[in-house]
Amino acid sequence: MEKHRLEWAQKWIQAPKTSWIGIEPFPSENAGEFSAINPSTGEKITQLHLAGSKTVNAAVQSARAAFESAQWKGLHPKERAQSLNRIAAAIRAHHAELATLETFENGKLYRESFEDDIPEAADVFEYYAGWATKIYGETCPTGPAYLNYTVREPLGVCALVVPWNFPFLLACWKISACLSMGNTAIVKPSPQTSSTLLRLMEILTQEKILPPGVLNVVLGGSATGDLLSSHSGIDKISFTGSTSVGKRIVRQSGDSNLKAVTLELGGKSANILFDDTPDLEFALERSFYAMFCHKGEKCSEPTRLFVHQKHYTQTLDFLSRKCEAVRCGDPFDPASDQGPQCTREQFEKILSYIEIGKKEGARLIAGGSQDTTGKNSKGFFVRPTVFADVHPQMKIAQDEIFGPVLAVTPFTSEAEVVEMANSTIYGLAAGLWSSDISRAHRVASQLDAGMVFINRYGCYDFASPFGGFRQSGWGKEMSRDSLNSYTKTKSIWVKL
Ligand code: NAD
Repeated sequence: MEKHRLEWAQKWIQAPKTSWIGIEPFPSENAGEFSAINPSTGEKITQLHLAGSKTVNAAVQSARAAFESAQWKGLHPKERAQSLNRIAAAIRAHHAELATLETFENGKLYRESFEDDIPEAADVFEYYAGWATKIYGETCPTGPAYLNYTVREPLGVCALVVPWNFPFLLACWKISACLSMGNTAIVKPSPQTSSTLLRLMEILTQEKILPPGVLNVVLGGSATGDLLSSHSGIDKISFTGSTSVGKRIVRQSGDSNLKAVTLELGGKSANILFDDTPDLEFALERSFYAMFCHKGEKCSEPTRLFVHQKHYTQTLDFLSRKCEAVRCGDPFDPASDQGPQCTREQFEKILSYIEIGKKEGARLIAGGSQDTTGKNSKGFFVRPTVFADVHPQMKIAQDEIFGPVLAVTPFTSEAEVVEMANSTIYGLAAGLWSSDISRAHRVASQLDAGMVFINRYGCYDFASPFGGFRQSGWGKEMSRDSLNSYTKTKSIWVKL
Protein backbone atom coordinates (compact mmCIF):
# COMPACT_ATOMS: atom_id res chain seq x y z
CA MET A 1 0.00 0.00 0.00
CA GLU A 2 1.54 3.24 -1.09
CA LYS A 3 1.36 5.99 1.52
CA HIS A 4 0.33 8.69 -0.93
CA ARG A 5 -2.78 6.72 -1.89
CA LEU A 6 -3.92 6.52 1.70
CA GLU A 7 -3.31 10.24 2.11
CA TRP A 8 -5.22 10.91 -1.11
CA ALA A 9 -8.14 8.79 0.12
CA GLN A 10 -8.15 10.46 3.54
CA LYS A 11 -8.32 13.86 1.90
CA TRP A 12 -10.84 12.93 -0.80
CA ILE A 13 -13.16 11.27 1.65
CA GLN A 14 -13.27 14.18 4.10
CA ALA A 15 -15.41 16.38 1.82
CA PRO A 16 -19.10 16.02 2.80
CA LYS A 17 -20.99 13.74 0.45
CA THR A 18 -24.40 14.02 -1.19
CA SER A 19 -26.33 11.77 -3.52
CA TRP A 20 -25.28 11.66 -7.17
CA ILE A 21 -28.02 12.12 -9.71
CA GLY A 22 -27.43 12.26 -13.43
CA ILE A 23 -24.04 13.79 -13.94
CA GLU A 24 -23.52 15.62 -10.66
CA PRO A 25 -23.88 15.65 -6.89
CA PHE A 26 -27.44 16.53 -5.87
CA PRO A 27 -27.73 19.44 -3.44
CA SER A 28 -28.58 18.46 0.11
CA GLU A 29 -32.27 18.76 0.98
CA ASN A 30 -31.52 18.77 4.74
CA ALA A 31 -33.14 15.38 5.30
CA GLY A 32 -30.58 14.37 7.92
CA GLU A 33 -26.90 13.57 8.11
CA PHE A 34 -24.79 10.51 8.82
CA SER A 35 -21.21 10.30 10.05
CA ALA A 36 -19.21 7.45 8.55
CA ILE A 37 -16.64 6.15 11.05
CA ASN A 38 -13.19 4.73 10.47
CA PRO A 39 -13.59 1.23 11.96
CA SER A 40 -9.88 1.01 12.76
CA THR A 41 -9.86 4.10 14.97
CA GLY A 42 -13.46 4.95 15.82
CA GLU A 43 -12.91 8.43 14.38
CA LYS A 44 -15.22 10.18 11.96
CA ILE A 45 -14.22 9.80 8.30
CA THR A 46 -16.86 11.83 6.54
CA GLN A 47 -20.30 13.33 6.70
CA LEU A 48 -23.16 12.28 4.41
CA HIS A 49 -26.24 14.31 3.53
CA LEU A 50 -29.04 11.79 3.43
CA ALA A 51 -31.55 11.47 0.63
CA GLY A 52 -35.13 12.33 1.56
CA SER A 53 -38.16 12.25 -0.71
CA LYS A 54 -37.02 15.19 -2.83
CA THR A 55 -33.73 13.47 -3.69
CA VAL A 56 -35.30 10.06 -4.23
CA ASN A 57 -37.98 11.57 -6.50
CA ALA A 58 -35.27 13.36 -8.47
CA ALA A 59 -33.32 10.11 -8.81
CA VAL A 60 -36.41 8.28 -10.06
CA GLN A 61 -37.15 11.03 -12.58
CA SER A 62 -33.55 11.02 -13.74
CA ALA A 63 -33.48 7.23 -14.15
CA ARG A 64 -36.89 7.21 -15.88
CA ALA A 65 -35.90 9.92 -18.36
CA ALA A 66 -32.68 8.05 -19.14
CA PHE A 67 -34.58 4.78 -19.57
CA GLU A 68 -36.90 6.38 -22.11
CA SER A 69 -34.16 8.31 -23.90
CA ALA A 70 -32.87 7.47 -27.33
CA GLN A 71 -29.37 7.75 -25.88
CA TRP A 72 -30.02 4.58 -23.87
CA LYS A 73 -33.16 2.85 -25.13
CA GLY A 74 -32.08 3.49 -28.70
CA LEU A 75 -28.69 1.81 -28.31
CA HIS A 76 -27.79 -1.36 -30.08
CA PRO A 77 -26.96 -4.04 -27.45
CA LYS A 78 -23.36 -4.00 -28.65
CA GLU A 79 -23.17 -0.31 -27.71
CA ARG A 80 -24.42 -1.12 -24.20
CA ALA A 81 -21.76 -3.82 -24.09
CA GLN A 82 -19.13 -1.26 -25.06
CA SER A 83 -20.24 1.01 -22.22
CA LEU A 84 -19.94 -1.84 -19.72
CA ASN A 85 -16.50 -2.74 -21.02
CA ARG A 86 -15.47 0.87 -20.62
CA ILE A 87 -16.69 0.82 -17.00
CA ALA A 88 -14.53 -2.27 -16.41
CA ALA A 89 -11.53 -0.45 -17.88
CA ALA A 90 -12.20 2.62 -15.74
CA ILE A 91 -12.34 0.49 -12.58
CA ARG A 92 -9.03 -1.13 -13.52
CA ALA A 93 -7.47 2.27 -14.21
CA HIS A 94 -8.48 3.40 -10.69
CA HIS A 95 -7.91 0.04 -9.02
CA ALA A 96 -5.63 1.09 -6.17
CA GLU A 97 -7.56 4.20 -5.19
CA LEU A 98 -10.89 2.30 -5.12
CA ALA A 99 -9.28 -0.45 -3.02
CA THR A 100 -7.97 2.20 -0.62
CA LEU A 101 -11.38 3.81 -0.18
CA GLU A 102 -13.00 0.40 0.29
CA THR A 103 -10.61 -0.65 3.03
CA PHE A 104 -10.70 2.74 4.67
CA GLU A 105 -14.46 2.60 5.19
CA ASN A 106 -15.07 -1.12 5.54
CA GLY A 107 -11.98 -2.18 7.50
CA LYS A 108 -11.28 -5.28 5.39
CA LEU A 109 -7.62 -5.98 4.64
CA TYR A 110 -6.23 -3.84 1.84
CA ARG A 111 -5.06 -6.98 0.06
CA GLU A 112 -8.64 -8.33 0.14
CA SER A 113 -9.91 -5.14 -1.49
CA PHE A 114 -7.00 -4.90 -3.90
CA GLU A 115 -6.70 -8.55 -4.93
CA ASP A 116 -10.33 -9.66 -4.76
CA ASP A 117 -13.08 -7.06 -4.58
CA ILE A 118 -11.99 -4.38 -7.03
CA PRO A 119 -10.66 -6.70 -9.80
CA GLU A 120 -13.79 -8.84 -9.55
CA ALA A 121 -15.92 -5.72 -9.84
CA ALA A 122 -14.19 -4.91 -13.14
CA ASP A 123 -14.52 -8.54 -14.28
CA VAL A 124 -18.27 -8.67 -13.67
CA PHE A 125 -18.83 -5.69 -15.97
CA GLU A 126 -17.01 -7.58 -18.71
CA TYR A 127 -18.98 -10.73 -17.98
CA TYR A 128 -22.33 -8.95 -18.37
CA ALA A 129 -21.09 -6.90 -21.31
CA GLY A 130 -20.83 -10.26 -23.06
CA TRP A 131 -24.45 -11.10 -22.28
CA ALA A 132 -25.90 -7.82 -23.61
CA THR A 133 -25.73 -9.16 -27.17
CA LYS A 134 -26.87 -12.69 -26.37
CA ILE A 135 -30.43 -12.42 -25.09
CA TYR A 136 -32.88 -14.12 -27.43
CA GLY A 137 -36.63 -14.55 -27.49
CA GLU A 138 -38.34 -17.67 -28.85
CA THR A 139 -40.84 -18.67 -31.45
CA CYS A 140 -43.55 -20.74 -29.83
CA PRO A 141 -45.23 -23.82 -31.42
CA THR A 142 -48.75 -22.33 -31.57
CA GLY A 143 -49.88 -23.99 -34.82
CA PRO A 144 -50.20 -22.87 -38.45
CA ALA A 145 -52.78 -20.09 -37.95
CA TYR A 146 -50.49 -17.86 -35.96
CA LEU A 147 -46.95 -16.77 -35.50
CA ASN A 148 -46.20 -16.35 -31.82
CA TYR A 149 -42.88 -15.14 -30.55
CA THR A 150 -41.45 -13.75 -27.33
CA VAL A 151 -39.16 -10.83 -26.71
CA ARG A 152 -37.26 -10.05 -23.55
CA GLU A 153 -37.61 -6.41 -22.53
CA PRO A 154 -35.93 -4.44 -19.79
CA LEU A 155 -38.01 -3.72 -16.67
CA GLY A 156 -37.31 0.01 -16.43
CA VAL A 157 -36.00 1.76 -13.32
CA CYS A 158 -34.35 -0.57 -10.82
CA ALA A 159 -33.37 0.25 -7.23
CA LEU A 160 -30.26 -1.65 -6.16
CA VAL A 161 -29.78 -1.73 -2.40
CA VAL A 162 -26.49 -3.08 -1.06
CA PRO A 163 -24.93 -3.72 2.36
CA TRP A 164 -21.57 -2.68 3.79
CA ASN A 165 -19.68 -5.97 3.69
CA PHE A 166 -18.72 -5.96 -0.02
CA PRO A 167 -19.89 -2.43 -0.81
CA PHE A 168 -18.35 -2.03 -4.23
CA LEU A 169 -18.39 -5.60 -5.51
CA LEU A 170 -22.01 -6.35 -4.64
CA ALA A 171 -23.11 -3.04 -6.15
CA CYS A 172 -21.18 -3.90 -9.34
CA TRP A 173 -22.77 -7.38 -9.53
CA LYS A 174 -26.14 -5.68 -9.63
CA ILE A 175 -25.31 -2.63 -11.76
CA SER A 176 -23.64 -4.68 -14.49
CA ALA A 177 -26.51 -7.16 -14.85
CA CYS A 178 -29.11 -4.41 -14.62
CA LEU A 179 -27.57 -2.12 -17.24
CA SER A 180 -26.63 -4.94 -19.60
CA MET A 181 -30.34 -5.63 -20.11
CA GLY A 182 -31.10 -1.96 -20.87
CA ASN A 183 -32.51 -0.89 -17.50
CA THR A 184 -31.47 2.19 -15.57
CA ALA A 185 -30.46 2.13 -11.92
CA ILE A 186 -30.60 3.92 -8.60
CA VAL A 187 -28.09 2.43 -6.20
CA LYS A 188 -28.34 2.82 -2.46
CA PRO A 189 -25.20 1.77 -0.65
CA SER A 190 -25.01 1.46 3.10
CA PRO A 191 -24.26 4.92 4.55
CA GLN A 192 -21.11 3.58 6.22
CA THR A 193 -19.63 2.55 2.87
CA SER A 194 -20.68 4.79 0.01
CA SER A 195 -17.38 6.35 -1.05
CA THR A 196 -16.24 3.83 -3.63
CA LEU A 197 -19.51 4.15 -5.53
CA LEU A 198 -19.44 7.93 -5.36
CA ARG A 199 -15.89 7.90 -6.64
CA LEU A 200 -16.99 5.62 -9.48
CA MET A 201 -19.74 8.11 -10.36
CA GLU A 202 -17.14 10.86 -10.55
CA ILE A 203 -14.95 8.78 -12.82
CA LEU A 204 -17.79 7.67 -15.11
CA THR A 205 -18.97 11.25 -15.42
CA GLN A 206 -15.47 12.59 -16.16
CA GLU A 207 -15.01 9.96 -18.84
CA LYS A 208 -18.59 10.35 -20.16
CA ILE A 209 -19.11 6.61 -20.18
CA LEU A 210 -22.87 6.49 -19.60
CA PRO A 211 -25.68 8.79 -20.72
CA PRO A 212 -26.86 11.04 -17.85
CA GLY A 213 -29.30 9.35 -15.47
CA VAL A 214 -28.56 5.74 -16.42
CA LEU A 215 -26.83 5.30 -13.08
CA ASN A 216 -27.65 7.30 -9.92
CA VAL A 217 -26.63 6.92 -6.29
CA VAL A 218 -28.77 7.93 -3.33
CA LEU A 219 -27.25 8.10 0.14
CA GLY A 220 -29.03 6.97 3.26
CA GLY A 221 -30.10 4.17 5.55
CA SER A 222 -33.47 2.66 6.34
CA ALA A 223 -35.53 5.85 5.79
CA THR A 224 -34.08 6.28 2.30
CA GLY A 225 -34.52 2.55 1.67
CA ASP A 226 -38.18 2.84 2.66
CA LEU A 227 -38.64 5.65 0.14
CA LEU A 228 -37.24 3.42 -2.59
CA SER A 229 -39.18 0.26 -1.77
CA SER A 230 -42.47 2.15 -1.47
CA HIS A 231 -41.93 4.30 -4.59
CA SER A 232 -44.39 3.54 -7.35
CA GLY A 233 -42.06 4.93 -10.02
CA ILE A 234 -39.58 2.09 -9.45
CA ASP A 235 -40.11 -1.17 -11.34
CA LYS A 236 -37.78 -3.48 -9.47
CA ILE A 237 -35.80 -3.62 -6.29
CA SER A 238 -32.80 -5.87 -5.98
CA PHE A 239 -31.77 -6.09 -2.37
CA THR A 240 -28.81 -7.62 -0.58
CA GLY A 241 -28.88 -7.41 3.18
CA SER A 242 -30.51 -8.83 6.28
CA THR A 243 -33.55 -11.07 6.27
CA SER A 244 -35.54 -8.68 8.47
CA VAL A 245 -35.05 -5.74 6.07
CA GLY A 246 -35.75 -8.06 3.11
CA LYS A 247 -39.16 -8.89 4.58
CA ARG A 248 -39.92 -5.21 5.05
CA ILE A 249 -39.00 -4.51 1.43
CA VAL A 250 -41.38 -7.23 0.24
CA ARG A 251 -44.23 -5.69 2.25
CA GLN A 252 -43.55 -2.17 1.01
CA SER A 253 -43.09 -3.23 -2.58
CA GLY A 254 -46.38 -5.12 -2.46
CA ASP A 255 -48.24 -2.23 -0.86
CA SER A 256 -46.96 0.28 -3.41
CA ASN A 257 -46.86 -0.93 -7.02
CA LEU A 258 -46.06 -4.64 -6.72
CA LYS A 259 -42.57 -4.00 -8.07
CA ALA A 260 -40.43 -7.02 -8.83
CA VAL A 261 -38.23 -8.03 -5.90
CA THR A 262 -35.11 -10.14 -5.65
CA LEU A 263 -33.48 -10.76 -2.30
CA GLU A 264 -30.05 -11.95 -1.22
CA LEU A 265 -30.34 -12.29 2.54
CA GLY A 266 -28.67 -13.71 5.59
CA GLY A 267 -27.13 -17.11 6.14
CA LYS A 268 -25.96 -19.58 8.76
CA SER A 269 -24.23 -22.03 6.52
CA ALA A 270 -23.23 -25.53 7.55
CA ASN A 271 -19.91 -27.13 6.69
CA ILE A 272 -19.67 -30.90 7.26
CA LEU A 273 -16.42 -32.81 7.72
CA PHE A 274 -17.21 -36.50 7.29
CA ASP A 275 -14.99 -39.26 8.67
CA ASP A 276 -13.67 -39.86 5.13
CA THR A 277 -12.73 -36.26 4.40
CA PRO A 278 -10.17 -36.73 1.61
CA ASP A 279 -7.44 -34.36 2.77
CA LEU A 280 -8.16 -33.27 6.31
CA GLU A 281 -5.37 -30.71 6.44
CA PHE A 282 -6.60 -28.97 3.30
CA ALA A 283 -10.21 -29.17 4.50
CA LEU A 284 -9.31 -27.52 7.80
CA GLU A 285 -7.21 -24.79 6.19
CA ARG A 286 -9.87 -24.03 3.61
CA SER A 287 -12.70 -24.10 6.17
CA PHE A 288 -10.76 -21.74 8.43
CA TYR A 289 -10.11 -19.34 5.57
CA ALA A 290 -13.71 -19.41 4.31
CA MET A 291 -14.96 -18.74 7.81
CA PHE A 292 -12.58 -15.98 8.94
CA CYS A 293 -11.53 -14.04 5.81
CA HIS A 294 -13.12 -10.59 5.44
CA LYS A 295 -13.37 -10.77 9.28
CA GLY A 296 -16.33 -13.10 9.09
CA GLU A 297 -18.59 -10.51 7.47
CA LYS A 298 -19.75 -12.73 4.63
CA CYS A 299 -23.27 -13.98 4.08
CA SER A 300 -22.20 -17.41 2.81
CA GLU A 301 -19.41 -18.11 5.28
CA PRO A 302 -19.48 -21.54 6.96
CA THR A 303 -20.42 -20.43 10.48
CA ARG A 304 -21.50 -23.88 11.65
CA LEU A 305 -18.88 -26.59 11.43
CA PHE A 306 -20.09 -30.16 11.92
CA VAL A 307 -17.21 -32.55 12.53
CA HIS A 308 -17.30 -36.33 12.63
CA GLN A 309 -16.26 -37.62 16.05
CA LYS A 310 -13.21 -39.24 14.47
CA HIS A 311 -11.70 -35.81 13.62
CA TYR A 312 -13.20 -33.76 16.43
CA THR A 313 -10.19 -33.39 18.74
CA GLN A 314 -7.78 -32.73 15.90
CA THR A 315 -10.13 -30.11 14.44
CA LEU A 316 -10.51 -28.26 17.73
CA ASP A 317 -6.73 -28.25 18.26
CA PHE A 318 -6.23 -26.87 14.75
CA LEU A 319 -8.85 -24.16 15.14
CA SER A 320 -7.64 -22.90 18.49
CA ARG A 321 -4.02 -22.82 17.26
CA LYS A 322 -4.94 -20.96 14.07
CA CYS A 323 -7.14 -18.44 15.85
CA GLU A 324 -4.57 -17.64 18.50
CA ALA A 325 -2.02 -16.87 15.76
CA VAL A 326 -4.24 -14.28 14.05
CA ARG A 327 -2.95 -10.71 14.28
CA CYS A 328 -5.76 -8.19 14.34
CA GLY A 329 -4.63 -4.74 13.26
CA ASP A 330 -4.51 -1.89 10.78
CA PRO A 331 -5.99 -3.30 7.56
CA PHE A 332 -3.43 -1.38 5.51
CA ASP A 333 -0.55 -3.11 7.34
CA PRO A 334 0.53 -6.19 5.32
CA ALA A 335 1.35 -7.91 8.62
CA SER A 336 -2.29 -7.83 9.75
CA ASP A 337 -4.42 -10.95 9.31
CA GLN A 338 -7.75 -9.45 10.28
CA GLY A 339 -9.13 -5.91 10.21
CA PRO A 340 -11.84 -4.34 12.37
CA GLN A 341 -15.55 -5.07 12.06
CA CYS A 342 -17.21 -2.51 9.81
CA THR A 343 -19.45 -0.69 12.28
CA ARG A 344 -19.67 -0.13 16.03
CA GLU A 345 -23.17 -1.61 15.96
CA GLN A 346 -21.90 -4.79 14.34
CA PHE A 347 -18.91 -4.97 16.70
CA GLU A 348 -21.20 -4.72 19.73
CA LYS A 349 -23.62 -7.24 18.28
CA ILE A 350 -20.82 -9.78 17.80
CA LEU A 351 -19.50 -9.29 21.34
CA SER A 352 -23.01 -9.70 22.74
CA TYR A 353 -23.42 -12.99 20.83
CA ILE A 354 -20.11 -14.18 22.27
CA GLU A 355 -21.52 -13.54 25.75
CA ILE A 356 -24.71 -15.38 24.79
CA GLY A 357 -22.61 -18.36 23.65
CA LYS A 358 -20.78 -18.44 26.99
CA LYS A 359 -24.07 -18.28 28.91
CA GLU A 360 -25.63 -20.98 26.74
CA GLY A 361 -22.86 -23.32 27.89
CA ALA A 362 -20.93 -23.71 24.64
CA ARG A 363 -17.22 -24.39 25.23
CA LEU A 364 -15.05 -21.43 24.23
CA ILE A 365 -11.83 -22.73 22.71
CA ALA A 366 -10.48 -19.56 21.04
CA GLY A 367 -10.98 -15.81 21.19
CA GLY A 368 -14.11 -14.69 22.98
CA SER A 369 -13.40 -10.98 23.34
CA GLN A 370 -12.47 -7.68 21.78
CA ASP A 371 -8.87 -7.42 20.54
CA THR A 372 -7.12 -4.67 22.46
CA THR A 373 -3.56 -5.11 21.21
CA GLY A 374 -1.72 -1.78 20.74
CA LYS A 375 -4.02 0.83 19.27
CA ASN A 376 -6.72 -1.72 18.48
CA SER A 377 -8.78 -0.84 21.53
CA LYS A 378 -9.93 2.33 19.76
CA GLY A 379 -11.30 0.38 16.81
CA PHE A 380 -13.83 -2.41 16.34
CA PHE A 381 -11.53 -5.43 16.54
CA VAL A 382 -12.83 -8.84 17.64
CA ARG A 383 -10.65 -11.88 18.26
CA PRO A 384 -11.52 -14.81 15.98
CA THR A 385 -13.73 -16.91 18.19
CA VAL A 386 -14.59 -20.61 18.24
CA PHE A 387 -17.18 -22.35 20.37
CA ALA A 388 -17.08 -26.15 20.61
CA ASP A 389 -19.78 -28.60 21.71
CA VAL A 390 -22.46 -26.29 20.35
CA HIS A 391 -25.98 -27.67 20.47
CA PRO A 392 -27.71 -26.94 17.13
CA GLN A 393 -30.61 -25.23 18.86
CA MET A 394 -28.43 -22.73 20.75
CA LYS A 395 -28.85 -19.11 19.68
CA ILE A 396 -25.25 -18.97 18.49
CA ALA A 397 -26.08 -21.86 16.13
CA GLN A 398 -29.39 -20.42 14.94
CA ASP A 399 -28.86 -16.68 14.55
CA GLU A 400 -26.71 -14.98 11.94
CA ILE A 401 -23.91 -13.24 13.89
CA PHE A 402 -22.05 -11.90 10.84
CA GLY A 403 -18.62 -11.80 12.38
CA PRO A 404 -15.65 -14.04 13.23
CA VAL A 405 -17.56 -16.48 15.45
CA LEU A 406 -17.63 -20.18 14.59
CA ALA A 407 -19.89 -22.82 16.18
CA VAL A 408 -18.53 -26.39 16.13
CA THR A 409 -20.68 -29.47 16.72
CA PRO A 410 -19.64 -33.14 16.68
CA PHE A 411 -21.69 -35.84 14.94
CA THR A 412 -21.60 -39.54 14.20
CA SER A 413 -24.23 -40.37 11.58
CA GLU A 414 -25.07 -38.95 8.15
CA ALA A 415 -28.80 -38.67 8.85
CA GLU A 416 -28.15 -36.83 12.11
CA VAL A 417 -25.82 -34.26 10.52
CA VAL A 418 -28.13 -33.56 7.59
CA GLU A 419 -30.96 -32.87 10.02
CA MET A 420 -28.78 -30.53 12.08
CA ALA A 421 -27.44 -28.75 8.97
CA ASN A 422 -31.01 -28.04 7.79
CA SER A 423 -32.24 -26.88 11.18
CA THR A 424 -32.09 -23.09 10.78
CA ILE A 425 -34.38 -20.65 8.98
CA TYR A 426 -31.63 -20.00 6.42
CA GLY A 427 -30.52 -21.88 3.30
CA LEU A 428 -27.80 -19.87 1.63
CA ALA A 429 -24.84 -22.25 1.30
CA ALA A 430 -23.50 -25.52 2.66
CA GLY A 431 -20.33 -27.52 2.35
CA LEU A 432 -19.40 -31.15 2.76
CA TRP A 433 -16.16 -33.09 2.65
CA SER A 434 -16.13 -36.79 1.79
CA SER A 435 -14.24 -39.28 -0.40
CA ASP A 436 -17.40 -41.29 -0.98
CA ILE A 437 -18.84 -40.00 -4.25
CA SER A 438 -22.27 -41.52 -3.59
CA ARG A 439 -22.49 -40.00 -0.15
CA ALA A 440 -21.29 -36.63 -1.40
CA HIS A 441 -24.06 -36.41 -4.02
CA ARG A 442 -26.69 -37.89 -1.71
CA VAL A 443 -25.96 -35.38 1.03
CA ALA A 444 -25.68 -32.49 -1.45
CA SER A 445 -29.21 -33.26 -2.63
CA GLN A 446 -30.48 -33.38 0.95
CA LEU A 447 -28.95 -30.08 2.04
CA ASP A 448 -31.57 -27.35 1.71
CA ALA A 449 -29.24 -24.62 0.49
CA GLY A 450 -28.89 -22.61 -2.70
CA MET A 451 -25.20 -23.45 -3.09
CA VAL A 452 -23.45 -26.67 -2.02
CA PHE A 453 -19.68 -27.03 -2.08
CA ILE A 454 -18.20 -30.54 -2.19
CA ASN A 455 -14.57 -30.88 -1.04
CA ARG A 456 -13.84 -27.15 -1.28
CA TYR A 457 -15.94 -24.63 0.58
CA GLY A 458 -16.52 -21.37 -1.32
CA CYS A 459 -16.29 -21.69 -5.11
CA TYR A 460 -17.49 -18.69 -7.10
CA ASP A 461 -17.74 -17.91 -10.76
CA PHE A 462 -19.95 -15.38 -12.52
CA ALA A 463 -21.18 -18.26 -14.68
CA SER A 464 -22.80 -19.98 -11.67
CA PRO A 465 -25.94 -18.70 -9.91
CA PHE A 466 -25.40 -17.26 -6.44
CA GLY A 467 -28.25 -17.15 -3.94
CA GLY A 468 -30.13 -18.90 -1.20
CA PHE A 469 -33.25 -20.87 -0.35
CA ARG A 470 -35.80 -20.35 2.42
CA GLN A 471 -35.19 -17.13 4.40
CA SER A 472 -31.86 -16.56 2.67
CA GLY A 473 -33.55 -15.04 -0.33
CA TRP A 474 -35.49 -15.00 -3.56
CA GLY A 475 -33.82 -15.25 -6.93
CA LYS A 476 -30.19 -15.36 -7.91
CA GLU A 477 -27.29 -13.06 -8.49
CA MET A 478 -24.75 -13.66 -11.26
CA SER A 479 -24.98 -16.03 -14.24
CA ARG A 480 -27.82 -15.98 -16.74
CA ASP A 481 -30.28 -16.39 -13.86
CA SER A 482 -29.68 -12.86 -12.68
CA LEU A 483 -30.54 -11.54 -16.16
CA ASN A 484 -33.94 -13.19 -16.07
CA SER A 485 -34.81 -11.00 -13.14
CA TYR A 486 -33.85 -7.84 -15.04
CA THR A 487 -36.09 -8.57 -18.05
CA LYS A 488 -39.75 -9.31 -18.69
CA THR A 489 -40.99 -11.68 -21.37
CA LYS A 490 -43.57 -10.38 -23.82
CA SER A 491 -45.56 -12.77 -26.00
CA ILE A 492 -46.52 -11.37 -29.41
CA TRP A 493 -49.20 -12.98 -31.63
CA VAL A 494 -49.52 -12.50 -35.37
CA LYS A 495 -52.55 -13.85 -37.27
CA LEU A 496 -51.28 -15.44 -40.44
P1 NAD B 1 -29.14 -4.38 6.34
O1 NAD B 1 -30.30 -5.23 5.94
O2 NAD B 1 -29.21 -3.67 7.61
O3 NAD B 1 -28.88 -3.27 5.23
C1 NAD B 1 -28.64 -3.59 3.88
C2 NAD B 1 -28.96 -2.36 3.05
O4 NAD B 1 -30.34 -2.09 3.18
C3 NAD B 1 -28.24 -1.10 3.48
O5 NAD B 1 -27.95 -0.31 2.35
C4 NAD B 1 -29.28 -0.42 4.36
O6 NAD B 1 -29.08 0.97 4.47
C5 NAD B 1 -30.53 -0.76 3.60
N1 NAD B 1 -31.78 -0.68 4.34
C6 NAD B 1 -31.96 -0.67 5.68
N2 NAD B 1 -33.28 -0.57 5.96
C7 NAD B 1 -33.94 -0.53 4.77
C8 NAD B 1 -35.31 -0.44 4.39
N3 NAD B 1 -36.26 -0.34 5.31
N4 NAD B 1 -35.62 -0.45 3.08
C9 NAD B 1 -34.65 -0.57 2.13
N5 NAD B 1 -33.33 -0.63 2.44
C10 NAD B 1 -32.98 -0.62 3.74
O7 NAD B 1 -27.86 -5.32 6.22
P2 NAD B 1 -26.36 -4.95 6.57
O8 NAD B 1 -26.24 -4.95 8.05
O9 NAD B 1 -25.94 -3.76 5.80
O10 NAD B 1 -25.58 -6.20 5.94
C11 NAD B 1 -25.49 -7.41 6.57
C12 NAD B 1 -26.55 -8.38 6.08
O11 NAD B 1 -26.46 -8.52 4.67
C13 NAD B 1 -26.37 -9.76 6.64
O12 NAD B 1 -27.61 -10.27 7.04
C14 NAD B 1 -25.83 -10.56 5.46
O13 NAD B 1 -26.05 -11.92 5.50
C15 NAD B 1 -26.52 -9.92 4.33
N6 NAD B 1 -25.81 -10.18 3.08
C16 NAD B 1 -26.32 -11.11 2.22
C17 NAD B 1 -25.64 -11.43 1.05
C18 NAD B 1 -26.18 -12.46 0.09
O14 NAD B 1 -25.74 -12.48 -1.06
N7 NAD B 1 -27.10 -13.33 0.50
C19 NAD B 1 -24.45 -10.79 0.74
C20 NAD B 1 -23.95 -9.85 1.64
C21 NAD B 1 -24.65 -9.55 2.81
